[in-house]
This record gives sequence, C-alpha cells and structure tokens, in this order.
Amino acid sequence: MTNTKYVFVTGGVTSSLGKGIIAASLAKLLQARGYKTTIQKFDPYINVDPGTLNPYEHGECYVTDDGAETDLDLGHYERFLNVPTSQANNVTTGRIYQSVIEKERRGEYLGKTVQVIPHITNEIKSRIQLLGKTGKYDIVITEIGGTVGDIESLPYIESVRQLVWDLGENNSVVIHLTLIPYLSAAGELKTKPTQHSVKTLMESGIKADILVCRTEHEISDDIKRKLALFCNVKQGAVIQSIDTDTIYNVPNLMLEEGLDTVTLDLLNLPDEGKPDLTNWNNFLQKYANPKQEVSIGLVGKYVELQDSYKSILESFIHAGAANEVSVKVISIHSEHITKDVIENTVSTLDAILVAPGFGERGVQGKIDAVQYAREHQIPFLGICLGMQMAVIEYSRNVLGLADANSREMDEQTSHPVIDIMEEQKDITHMGGTMRLGAWNCQLKPDSLIHKVYGKERISERHRHRYEYNNSYKIQLEEKGMISTGFNPETNLVEVVELRDHPWFVGVQYHPEYKSTVANPHPLFVNFVQAAVAFKKKKHASMA
Ligand code: GLN
Repeated sequence: MTNTKYVFVTGGVTSSLGKGIIAASLAKLLQARGYKTTIQKFDPYINVDPGTLNPYEHGECYVTDDGAETDLDLGHYERFLNVPTSQANNVTTGRIYQSVIEKERRGEYLGKTVQVIPHITNEIKSRIQLLGKTGKYDIVITEIGGTVGDIESLPYIESVRQLVWDLGENNSVVIHLTLIPYLSAAGELKTKPTQHSVKTLMESGIKADILVCRTEHEISDDIKRKLALFCNVKQGAVIQSIDTDTIYNVPNLMLEEGLDTVTLDLLNLPDEGKPDLTNWNNFLQKYANPKQEVSIGLVGKYVELQDSYKSILESFIHAGAANEVSVKVISIHSEHITKDVIENTVSTLDAILVAPGFGERGVQGKIDAVQYAREHQIPFLGICLGMQMAVIEYSRNVLGLADANSREMDEQTSHPVIDIMEEQKDITHMGGTMRLGAWNCQLKPDSLIHKVYGKERISERHRHRYEYNNSYKIQLEEKGMISTGFNPETNLVEVVELRDHPWFVGVQYHPEYKSTVANPHPLFVNFVQAAVAFKKKKHASMA
C-alpha cells in the first residue's frame, strides 16, 4: 500500500452542480499547501471517450498532451492546477468494459463467469489507484460523474465503497456535493433533498464525510446543524458553496469554509498555516479590475451552448486579466452570417476568432467572417477549422481558385487546399483516430507567431483529420499568405499569417487547451493586445 490518500467527490440531487469546480478548487488549496495533488474523472457513459459526442450534448471535448479526448472538467483541472493531465485522468464506463471484455477474450478470466462484481468493480478500483500508485502524488481526488442513485453510477459507487474499506481509516474521504434549493414562496432553504441523497448513498454502504452544499443563499448555522445531525457528519464538515460570479472565486470560498482543513483533518495530514494563493489572488485582482474593455467575436456553429467553447472562453479570461482588459466575447452563429448582415454584425468588433469545428454546416459564414477581418485589417485568430477557413478564403478570393475547399466539405473539389492526410485515408473507425495530442512546431524567425511565443520551438495540442495541402504552399506564399510554423517531423503546416495585415494568424493546433491561470497562453495574450491596439486606432481615426 502506498501513502497516497484518496478523496472521492460524488454528486446528489441534480447534475450540473459543479463537482469538477469543487474538485479543482480543493485540489488548488491542497496544492497551495504543498501537497502534490491530481484529479481524475470517472464518467458513467458507455462511449469509450467523449470524442464521439456532439458538443451540444456534452460540451467541449478537451484534449491532453498524450492525445486523450476527454471530459471538459479536465480542462478545469489543468487551468486551476497548471499541471498537465493525461489519458489516466479520465475513464468512462465504455473504457472499463472495453478492457474487461478484451481481457475475457484473451482468456485472462478463463473458467470464470465475468460479472459486474468483482470484474468491473476491480477494473474501476485499479484504474482509480493507477495515478496514486505512481508514487507521484500525496493526494488523488476522484470525481465520480453522474448523480447518486443513477443506475449507471452503481458500479462506481460500489467500487468507492470497497476502496474506502480497503484503504482503511484516515486514508480516504468522501465528499458529497448536493443542492440546497430555495423556495421563494416559503422564503426558505430546503434540506430534505440533501437528506435523501445522503440516505441513498448510505444505502450503497457509503457514508459521506463532508457535505458541500450548493446554494443561492447563505446557509445559516442552524441549517448547518440540522444537516450535520440528519446526515451524520460533523458540523464543520457542512460546507456552503454559494453561487459566485466566476469559478475562479471558488477556491477562496472553499478556503473560507475550511474545505481544505476538514479534508486534511479527516486524512490525518498536517494542516498548519495557510495555502499560498498569492499568484492566484493576483490574477483575481487583475481580472476584477480591468482598465478597459474589448469586444471579440467568436464565430462558430455551437455558440448556443457556452460549454462548447469552454477552453476558448477561459483562455480569454486568463489573457484579459494578464492585460488588465475585460474581454467581452460576442458569440456569433456562423449560420447567421451572410454578406448582407456582416457589416452590422462584425463591424463593432475589435477582433474576430473563427472557432474549431466539424462538417459543412455554417462554413460559408466562417469564410465570410475571415474575409471581412482580412479586408478590414481586423485582428484575426483562426483555430483549427478556423485556420482551414482562412486558407480556403485566401485561395478563393486572392488566388482566384473559385472552388477551393477542404476535402471534408467537398470531396470532389478541384482545389483541395485543405486535404486529408495519407494516413487518414483508410481509417474507418471514428473514435480516437484523428491527429491528436502534442506535436512539435518549428516557428519561422521574425514571423509574428515567433514574436508571440518568443521562441522557435513549441509544442501544441491537436485534434483534426484534415491538413493544409503543401502543393498550394508556393502559390499561397507568393500572394501573401505565409506559412510560419510547421511540424519538423512531417513538414505539415501548423501556422499561417498574412504579410499585409497587422495581426492575422491561423493555427492548425488548439492553443486554448494549454492556457492556465498561472500561464495565460501567449497567443491569446497577444491577440487581446492586438484587439486593444485596433480599438485605439479605430477611435483615433473617428476622433
Ligand atoms: N474538421 C476539421 C478537421 O478535422 C477541423 C477540426 C477542428 O477544428 N478541431 O481537420
């Protein structure tokens, strides 16, 4: 048995209470006290990973350095902790069953009936302990997706029950996150749903050690006492989690409530002194006191759901704070952009970002947005599909290749300026088969992108199937679209810029996955600066 201690975070009453943020906030506090901490998420759905899920259903698919397509909560973990996660940090029921079934086919359980208990639960237990057993962490926080009482959560809950027993006294803590609803007609906060949820957990043999209560109103000491009594926890272990303007306030709120000290106490770990949140609070200070504001258009087709572009929105928060600028992100549905309305929609913007995406729908609107940014010298950042759209727009409108397109949108195009990679041609399986994860990129000296990063060699994360077609490189460069970043191993183009534009960058990779509170991404930081400069120039010319 290693010395690693385990914290389990379960959820009750309803989904979307923010288990991921509570887990990340606790991890932040523990990390700021010097404990080596990591977070992992176990998701109860049958997809092997969320890569095949529609962003409308599940929000953004987050990608790690090692190329895992994961739940967006891993993005929060990285943004809070500034430590990279990996495939091991996100496991789904699909992946658990896949490995149990593969073992069964290999004959590893020969002679046995393979069952949920013990085979599935053993697989879950060994995955939960995988990171702990590396010896790299003092504390591993495991978030169990879904809501207690769901049929699909049962094997996880049973595994946690067994692990709590296996690990023994003071080696694990169960945190249960619930909702304390406010009935406005009665003017009262209600504890009954929480009591029931704790009871459901108890029926599965798990005693919650700490209750984190999500609420819109302050929870009085009386209510805390009542919750403690009926839910069998110490009063100090009833933690209020009140609604707040930004998720980045949650670590401080949890500190005030003592979530870290209660946890450490239950784990029998020292809790002297206070967590060092100096850098975190500097960021909050800047974020709360912007000196000016810029409006940046986010052109995409999943704009109705905020979670679809989670990492991009968070990157703007980090970059805004770094510049002491409030970044107002204006979501623009690419399907609503037509040449006629573009003037009204985008002319008020200080910069335009064309988002990543898949498939035909809304593509023309994205191309029109690129064209507008290019022709009006508006700072432009194209990410992944957004970069591909920039290449298509330039090929059509500057090179005069009228039917230039991506092979993804038009298989028959006579000018596939964005094409499928040779290795991707024979792929029939959609799950986990794109160009994924960290790839090296060599930047051209003296290019804009080189200035942005301040170095020649970078590594960024990818998630795409189609690529810049190098057969068009000479033509594009002659006419002013320069390739300024390429993968040294494959020669694939990673970055394009425009010679005659103050700030126009398309990147095939996803910078947004690597922006954190501690390390705002330089590309976003610089893009926000370009928006500030553009706004200033616009105002000067109007004066
Ligand atoms: N659909 C494009 C591709 O597969 C872009 C993907 C993306 O924007 N993440 O290459």
